[in-house]
Amino acid sequence: MEWLPPGWCPRIVAFDIDGTLTDENKRLDMHAVEALRQLEDAGIPVILATGNVRAITYGLWRFIGLSGPICCENGGVLWHPDWDEPLVRASGEEAKKAAEWLQSQHSEIDARGIQTNAWRESEWCLFKDEDLRLVTSSIKESDWSNLDVVRTGFAIHLMEPHLSKGSGLELILKRMGIEASELLSVGDAPNDLSMFAMSGWSVAVGTPFADVRDAADVVSPYPNSATIAPLVDAILAVHSAQEL
Ligand SMILES: [Mg+2]
Repeated sequence: MEWLPPGWCPRIVAFDIDGTLTDENKRLDMHAVEALRQLEDAGIPVILATGNVRAITYGLWRFIGLSGPICCENGGVLWHPDWDEPLVRASGEEAKKAAEWLQSQHSEIDARGIQTNAWRESEWCLFKDEDLRLVTSSIKESDWSNLDVVRTGFAIHLMEPHLSKGSGLELILKRMGIEASELLSVGDAPNDLSMFAMSGWSVAVGTPFADVRDAADVVSPYPNSATIAPLVDAILAVHSAQEL
């Protein structure tokens, strides 16, 4: 399996969480956790780039023992352990109002959305099983037509259009003095497309999303988090060869 361009080693690696470090049921893969620790031990920082809120992402970051930044809420909330404050790139108020309006028009839509909205800072998430076509077409004809509707397989995100994992990672890398060409990104869903587009190299884990497989530089033959250990082995092989 050729995971990387010949002789290329990323300086930093961004991993999506849900469906990428977990199985399809959101169960964290301990082999993937071990692989991330190996990357950090080799001096290659790990970025968690996720639709999750900051509180959840920080917990995972803390307990895995990572040193890199976190890109939460699909780029809406950015944080690095060296920064004084997180960077919150939207208020999330408009997205919440849009969800409430949707419910007022279509009573089958639950505006309260997913449980983690309690900690959400820059956007709002509806349940993944809501009618995506109805949500998208209604939003397009509403006062909130500027909002993006992004499906991840775990939720439907209502977010301001300048927010994406890709734009968030660009800001993070700029502050860290790292080029996007030095970044490897790994993901499974449409909310990963923007980071695939700006990364030096991208890997799609085994995923049902055809557009995600088509956009990645490499598609894993393994489902979800089963990709992470062999991919990290390949990165570390190039890394140790370059150190010799
Ligand atoms: Mg995902």
